[in-house]
Amino acid sequence: MPRLATASAVATGAASAPFWAGCDAGELRFQRCRACGRADLPPAEHCRECLSGDQAWEASAGLGTVYSWTVVHRPVTPDFAAPYAPVIVELDEGPLLVTNLVGCPPARLRVGLRVAVLFHRAGAGPALPYVHPVTHAIPDGSTREA
Ligand SMILES: [Zn+2]
Repeated sequence: MPRLATASAVATGAASAPFWAGCDAGELRFQRCRACGRADLPPAEHCRECLSGDQAWEASAGLGTVYSWTVVHRPVTPDFAAPYAPVIVELDEGPLLVTNLVGCPPARLRVGLRVAVLFHRAGAGPALPYVHPVTHAIPDGSTREA
């Protein structure tokens, strides 16, 4: 599991303020364009599809699937303990979320792995979204990945 980034590593601004406020409230938010309907992350002032500035914020259910990943063995800052896995998650609502996998060895990663978002605060900065595998309880007391 990576050490969690320090507050100084997070850049916030007016366009992303609702996203970070959502993270602090335990809610993953994304933007949906009112003109064309595109759901998107990261936050932007204009739609990446049609350039409209008419964007609404929606709450994600916090579930998705692994779209791609990499495993980092030599971190660029001491804030992370290698190995760790940055992942691109396709949220069920459509946007792609770039984050880190926690609670799972990188060797278990696969495309399509179901994951859920969790939040963790490091220092005085905003809470950060991470993902972990979704598991289901089996009657014998064990679990399996979704
Ligand atoms: Zn649009």
